Amino acid sequence: MTEAADKKINLLGMPRAELEAFFADMGEKPFRARQVMKWIYAAGEHDFDRMTDVSKKLRDKLKQIAEVRVPEVMVDNVSKDGTRKWLLNMDATNGIEMVFIPEDERGTLCISSQVGCALDCTFCSTAQQGFNRNLSAAEIVGQVWLANKLLGYSKGGDRIITNVVFMGMGEPLANYQNVLSSIHVLLDDYGYGMSKRRVTVSTSGIVPAMHRLNEEAEYALAVSLHAPNDELRDVLVPINQKYPIKELMEACWAYVKKKPHRHIYVEYVMLNGVNDKPEHARELAKLLGGLPCKVNLIPFNPFPGTPYERSPIERINAFRDILVRKGLVTVTRKTRGDDIDAACGQLAGKVADRSKRAEKMAAHMARVQT
Ligand code: SAH
Repeated sequence: MTEAADKKINLLGMPRAELEAFFADMGEKPFRARQVMKWIYAAGEHDFDRMTDVSKKLRDKLKQIAEVRVPEVMVDNVSKDGTRKWLLNMDATNGIEMVFIPEDERGTLCISSQVGCALDCTFCSTAQQGFNRNLSAAEIVGQVWLANKLLGYSKGGDRIITNVVFMGMGEPLANYQNVLSSIHVLLDDYGYGMSKRRVTVSTSGIVPAMHRLNEEAEYALAVSLHAPNDELRDVLVPINQKYPIKELMEACWAYVKKKPHRHIYVEYVMLNGVNDKPEHARELAKLLGGLPCKVNLIPFNPFPGTPYERSPIERINAFRDILVRKGLVTVTRKTRGDDIDAACGQLAGKVADRSKRAEKMAAHMARVQT
């Protein structure tokens, strides 16, 4: 990449209002933004020269100052169950992972919002690699753009990606502005035109950002609860020390109260002997009592070096039955793609080797060994 190319503005991931302002600055009409967005998102085009209803003069101008730059694919793995995982290069030292999960009625793309994560949830392998940096809106939306291409999306054809979930690497609400821009593009009719119920933001509970996002966007909300009381959650999800369960529940209630028929997906990882006892289930039912929600029990996906074990299926079923008897809609999430390390919370492994932390560790080991 030359220095000049580096300075070009990446139009990918720019919300319509921003793109209109960009064209206005060039002395162009706002409809240019809609025209170009249709090319980028509906047609999957990145080459200005092929945007044939844009005048040659404007295309030449665009080529000089702007670009549609997408992440680069490093590794492409397909699981026995059809789940597909990609390792994407974001720059010379940063990679992230993205997963596509095909099901009968839908296709879910799980995207990342950060390289690594700073939140340090003790059962999550992304946490092990530490935090490198936020992804830009271009890099977030770029994942969807790329997946559409790789999955063979065709103009006018059926959607292959029906759902997008911010459940890859990173904490989306710790990268607020770029995630917000991405949501705008995913929902915009001139962007991907997705339904607001099919774009899910999953958060470990950054409470002030939850309130803000509730005011500024439409989306489906998933909350990574994982424990029914502060004592346990303080350990599993350390951000709880800053924003305890009471505040988190208030943010959940604010979300469901804003619009009728809203509900929350409550995520609960099943860790053997840690948070999966019958008394935890009863405490959880009490905590969630009355909140419109669906509980997703996620069997823990182990990774090298973790002290935790997955709860046996009988314990998961017993836990689920208690919640169901208390009136909570509860499902156990199917583990998909675990033969290619694509399951929940496993997105890190190979990227860890590319992170700054891995480099530092290698340098440290070299010093120690000599
Ligand atoms: N930072 C966001 C997105 C994280 S990943 C969040 O916390 O919600 C999406 C889900 O996978 C979260 O619920 C996360 O807690 C869960 N998860 C993380 N590690 C896991 C593991 N090893 N096994 C199962 N689920 C895991």
